[in-house]
Amino acid sequence: MANYFVGVDLGGTKILTAVADQKGNILADVKMATEVEKGEEHIINNIDKSIRTAVGKAELGLEEIKRIGVGSPGPLSIKKGIVYETSNLPFENFPIVEMLESKVNIPVVLENDANAAALGEKLFGAGIDSEFMAYITISTGIGGGLVFGEKVFHGSNDGAGEVGHMIIEPSGPTCGFGQHRGCLEAMASGTAIIRDVKNELRNDLNKSLKNYQGKIEDIDGYDIAKAARDGDELAIKIYQEAGRYLGIGVANLINLFNPDTIVFGGGVMKAKELFWSEMKKSVRDNALRASANDCSFLEAVLGDNTGVIGAIAVAIKG
Ligand SMILES: [Zn+2]
Repeated sequence: MANYFVGVDLGGTKILTAVADQKGNILADVKMATEVEKGEEHIINNIDKSIRTAVGKAELGLEEIKRIGVGSPGPLSIKKGIVYETSNLPFENFPIVEMLESKVNIPVVLENDANAAALGEKLFGAGIDSEFMAYITISTGIGGGLVFGEKVFHGSNDGAGEVGHMIIEPSGPTCGFGQHRGCLEAMASGTAIIRDVKNELRNDLNKSLKNYQGKIEDIDGYDIAKAARDGDELAIKIYQEAGRYLGIGVANLINLFNPDTIVFGGGVMKAKELFWSEMKKSVRDNALRASANDCSFLEAVLGDNTGVIGAIAVAIKG
């Protein structure tokens, strides 16, 4: 009987693969380099190898695996099983589902990585009690997903839930993806926070980041968070601005979808205390009150495993 599931979290540097039972308990996992420079065929071979290794480690056979879920950066088509293009994988209209199924002879389900993480948090994480859940991940970019009941809301061609590309400041900078300006990712991601601090320091040479001795171009998110915690005015201001914009994005989500729960994940959440109260104030200022009052804000709990547990959730739900 095929009672087990495999999740594959496909990233630009590594492939995380895990085998789980029907309840999402992980039996074995494997981490491998993606080796993007060797091309798409090689990546498929690496995924195949990682699946066989993980299944072997779990002391199972491939015939005991019911389905494989693959979480990949998008844009992609779930129905067609194609990854159109991504910035960190060498794919162009790549039929990943067909390629992988022909290797392992097990049904494969493709999902956008942020949607997979959202489903993982719903089934096995912070959103377990939610009925209408929105998920936002704030890291170098901003991604997200909408899970209603136990189903990801995909839209007509799998493009729904791109919360990072909601426009919140039409005169703002671009995110580097498409032509639009001032999306949430361009205004409040980790990349945006670093960009804004660097710009302010370059524009006013009298300014500096407290307790930071290195070059402006080497400043990273950790340096800025540390400076803010040390009381640096510029770093504090930039985090608060990001919080204000995040609040506008969250208010738009609340007004559009009336979620009962919003789950927040991603690396920038490690500096949560630097923007959280400003974000909440901005939500109060911008969201319809009745909807905002009944919405719980929770922190993601799956951490570094969110991608692979999300992929397992995708495999289980089919
Ligand atoms: Zn954008």
